[in-house]
Amino acid sequence: MPNYTKTAILSVHDKTGLLDLAKGLSDNNVRILASGGTAQMVREAGFPVEDVSEVTHAPEMLGGRVKTLHPAVHGGILARNLESDEKDLKQQHIEKIDFVVCNLYPFKETVAKIGVTVAEAVEEIDIGGVTLLRAAAKNHSRVTILSDPKDYSLFLSELKSGKGEIPQELRNELALKAFEHTADYDKTISDFFRKQYSEGKAQLPLRYGINPHQKPAQAYVDRIDELPFKVLSGTPGYINLLDALNSWPLVKELSASLNLPAAASFKHVSPAGAAVGVPLTDLEKQVYFVSDIENLSPLACAYARARGSDRMSSFGDWIALSNIVDVPTAQIISKEVSDGVIAPGFKPEALEILKKKKKGKYCILQIDPNYEPEPIETRMVYGINLQQKRNDAIINKGTFREIVSKNKNLTDASIIDLTVATIALKYTQSNSVCLARNGMVVGLGAGQQSRIHCTRLAAEKAENWWLRHHPRVLGFQWAEGVKRPDKSNVIDLYVTGQIPIEGPEKEDYESKFSTVPTPLTEQERKDWISKLNNLSLSSDGFLPFPDNVYRAVKAGVKYIAAPSGSVMDKVVFNTADAFDLVYIENPIRLFHH
Ligand code: 5GP
Repeated sequence: MPNYTKTAILSVHDKTGLLDLAKGLSDNNVRILASGGTAQMVREAGFPVEDVSEVTHAPEMLGGRVKTLHPAVHGGILARNLESDEKDLKQQHIEKIDFVVCNLYPFKETVAKIGVTVAEAVEEIDIGGVTLLRAAAKNHSRVTILSDPKDYSLFLSELKSGKGEIPQELRNELALKAFEHTADYDKTISDFFRKQYSEGKAQLPLRYGINPHQKPAQAYVDRIDELPFKVLSGTPGYINLLDALNSWPLVKELSASLNLPAAASFKHVSPAGAAVGVPLTDLEKQVYFVSDIENLSPLACAYARARGSDRMSSFGDWIALSNIVDVPTAQIISKEVSDGVIAPGFKPEALEILKKKKKGKYCILQIDPNYEPEPIETRMVYGINLQQKRNDAIINKGTFREIVSKNKNLTDASIIDLTVATIALKYTQSNSVCLARNGMVVGLGAGQQSRIHCTRLAAEKAENWWLRHHPRVLGFQWAEGVKRPDKSNVIDLYVTGQIPIEGPEKEDYESKFSTVPTPLTEQERKDWISKLNNLSLSSDGFLPFPDNVYRAVKAGVKYIAAPSGSVMDKVVFNTADAFDLVYIENPIRLFHH
């Protein structure tokens, strides 16, 4: 027997580079052990190789299911340079293995084939290979593990220059690679079986991702047995789920912080509106198109407000409701164009109403209200994993303690409004600024790169919301059969001063009325907006310039909560003082992407 310096075990499915490796190993006086097919290829090429059975004294069996699974192999790999380990090996006549070369059965490729059966997939689950990889990677303080043919040549050159020794640094890198290899392999296996055995439970196939050409798509959980929500009706899409999983925590937190039912109306992963169940005046009922709904419950009031915040943006919304959905809430929803709803439960009668929506296609999700997500969340962007602690900051009364303005007169109503605005921001695409009044969002500027653009947008929306309360708007004489979305669109043209003055657009506009209303003059608009007061503003980041304060004041803002940290903080605080505002330093920044 030649005087070998080291021992390698080779068991590779992908035989790329195998013969070059075998040559390099034998040139460097390394003993080669190999499993069936690997040994055969090396032998046929004329390099010295021994079958694994030479050391296990057990044949490969069960059609290849057991090849290298044996103490002679794994004892040889896992043994450390310890006296006690040496003693164990000696007693069992086992020799140490220094290099392990292994890559796995092609499970990924097999299950990627259309129509693959479970039996076919099962046969491609590598057992011994994973064990070789894990054992060698675990013992990388002594053993080198090669799981990728791309690493053979570097390994061989190190082997040669190190006279049989591989630097620890390379062994570390290769061990990590092996761990990644087995982790990825296991992920692929569980993904396959989740789809086979847990569809509708831990896994939900989606028709497509964000856009129709983004296929395949799915939603799944891998650390709990079941998705925390049930689909009671319809088929949620990818964006529906993004909306549902952002809007649900919003209403859950809002309701918990204020001890009132809460509702949110989402579009494209930002709230168009959010509110708590503060009772509605008759005028508000009219503005929010709910005068015809009887016995408005607190939850129904919350949704009426959430939807009434920005009716145009809420067209086709995703709704989140903090409490069991009752009949009046379902009745409001049944009249609106909407995509779906998530709530912790539904009264049977309410569910019946909702199930009839969209010819039975309305999407209804029931969420487990006790579900708590993992504290660490990971997402992949352009192939890169980004990981962070979830934003589990709690926003409540205590958030608004640090008043930095001279005026410290924070009212109970303003605390409710600041809570609504701030929790809404936590689930709004940044940058964002939110204005609230009467327990509801009245203007939200989302997803703008510049803070002042957020503030302007939020302020304009709040002014438009307020203009929708104008007696002229409430007195509109509608033509027969004008639908709710058309009414919302026409009201928006009217209050934003964009009434068409010519052509088919004008005809279209006027066709919605039995009597075309007189437009508001600039002065009338100004006068009406000047009556808007006591609004609360929350910002997800600091206000970098006083322009934000100037704009907010014009829209009737009295209370501001924002993080600090700008070089302009002092200037911004002084500006707030100049208008006698209450300015609160929110200790938590709330960017959301
Ligand atoms: P070969 O072509 O040498 O016969 O087989 C190589 C493949 O067998 C490698 O992909 C390796 O991961 C896998 N393998 C090695 N040992 C075992 C074992 O004991 N059981 C199973 N199922 N696969 C093994």
